[in-house]
Amino acid sequence: MGGTKIAAGVVTPEGKILDETRYPTPHSSERLVESIARAIEEVSDGFEVGGVCLAVPGLILAQENKVVFSPNLRAIEGIPLIDELGPRIGVPLTIENDANAAAWGEFRFGAASEEDHLVFVTLGTGIGGGVITHGLLLRGAQGAGGELGHVTIQATGPRCACGNRGCLEALASGTAIGRRGREVAIEYPDSALGRLAIKRKVLGEDVTDLARQGDELALSVLDEAGRWLGIGLAGFVNIFNPEVVAVGGGAMAAGELILEAAREEVYLRARPPSRDLVEVKEATLGPESGVLGAAALARDSSSGEYVLGN
Ligand SMILES: [Zn+2]
Repeated sequence: MGGTKIAAGVVTPEGKILDETRYPTPHSSERLVESIARAIEEVSDGFEVGGVCLAVPGLILAQENKVVFSPNLRAIEGIPLIDELGPRIGVPLTIENDANAAAWGEFRFGAASEEDHLVFVTLGTGIGGGVITHGLLLRGAQGAGGELGHVTIQATGPRCACGNRGCLEALASGTAIGRRGREVAIEYPDSALGRLAIKRKVLGEDVTDLARQGDELALSVLDEAGRWLGIGLAGFVNIFNPEVVAVGGGAMAAGELILEAAREEVYLRARPPSRDLVEVKEATLGPESGVLGAAALARDSSSGEYVLGN
């Protein structure tokens, strides 16, 4: 589930996507429930489907199976999804935060398929995260854990979408890279970023494109974002002692231009032996991590324990 589209897939136990469908996201609650149900029915047709998991952006109260806060998908807030959808789809329904689902995808089929401890971070418009520890998804007391993007990194830093200042999201997301790109464009009007800013609003993607062409100023913006990211990751490495930190999401189009700086900061700031064990790398499943992880969660939640917490 996303703010603009609903993507549904049928996935085998081995993580192969057999069929997919996409619907635009309606912005009224009734039409949203209808579209989710239709996407599930359409994609299930002709397959023996044993369960469904909805991967939803926002804060989910696991005990109530309800999305309580979803800034990009307001229409889904408060809907009793299991009551509304369960009878219609006729198979067990699980609801999970989208970044947690993507983390589970990378754990089962991607960057950490051989490991038991993974910290997954997704850099997009915002920053999402998921933590797998001892092979279980960490949800916390209410199911709200793993919000890695809203850890404070710089006490007086830029305002975050969540209202706090200096969150990791406000310093290292695609949005933050775009904001920093616009700032340096003003500072250096004769630079490529400066010239672009005269024509239109500079976005995170523009910074990445220019950096890939070797533009020094754009490279410095990505390096800076990577350092903030690394400061955040160093904390996660100290707390969770993971074998793998996987970074995915749209802003990972910048790949090593961000990750190299992040890795350096992790090495400088995290403690041994955790910092010597951990491998900080790009997530491997790309945009499919969400649908693969959601499917695996649907399967794993019906066959046994998969979560730490409720
Ligand atoms: Zn925040």
